[in-house]
Amino acid sequence: MRHSFAASAHALPRHEATVELSVNQDNVIVRVNAAWDSFAHHNDGAALTNDAVLGLNLLDSISGKVSKHFTLTMLELARRGEREVVFDYRCDSPRVRRFMRAHLRSDSTGAVHYAHEHLYSETFPHLVTFKTATQRGRDTLMRCSICNHVRSDGLWRTPDREHGDTLTEVIYGVCPSCEQMLKEC
Ligand SMILES: [Zn+2]
Repeated sequence: MRHSFAASAHALPRHEATVELSVNQDNVIVRVNAAWDSFAHHNDGAALTNDAVLGLNLLDSISGKVSKHFTLTMLELARRGEREVVFDYRCDSPRVRRFMRAHLRSDSTGAVHYAHEHLYSETFPHLVTFKTATQRGRDTLMRCSICNHVRSDGLWRTPDREHGDTLTEVIYGVCPSCEQMLKEC
C-alpha cells in the first residue's frame, strides 16, 4: 500500500471513508466496516485486516500501557454517559499526516461503537517511518499514540526531518496535552 503514495508531494490525499468498529461489553471486536482494511494498513496493522480482527480484544491490539489506559478510559466514558464521546487524533502514515476524529457511543448491551472520521490530510515533505521498538533502549523515542507527536529533547512535536528517511524505533504513550484532553472529555 505504501508505494501507492507516489503522487506529487503537493497533491492532497482524497477524503477517506469513515471507519467503524464495534466492541461488545468485554471489549471484544465484533464488527468492522469495509473501510477498516485501509485503516489497518495505515496503522501498521496489515496483519489485522478485516475478519482477522473479529474476536480479538481491542486492548490486545494496542501497543503501550499508557495507550491501553487511554482506550480503556474512553470506553468507560462512553459506557457511563448518554452522550457521544468525541476526541481528535492523528493517524499518520510515512507520507501523510492524517487528522482524525473519533466518535464513541454505547448502547444498552454495553457495546461501544466507534466511528473514525477522516477530517483532512497533509503530505509530509519527506518520508517519515516509525516502527514499534521491541525493547525500550536509552535512545528509544516516545511517540504519542493520540496526536502522533514525538518527544525529542524533552519537547513534544510533530515528526521532523530528523525522523525521516530512516526507520525510527519508538515506544507508544500519551503526551501531556492529550492526557489533558482526556481529562476534559
Ligand atoms: Zn499527544
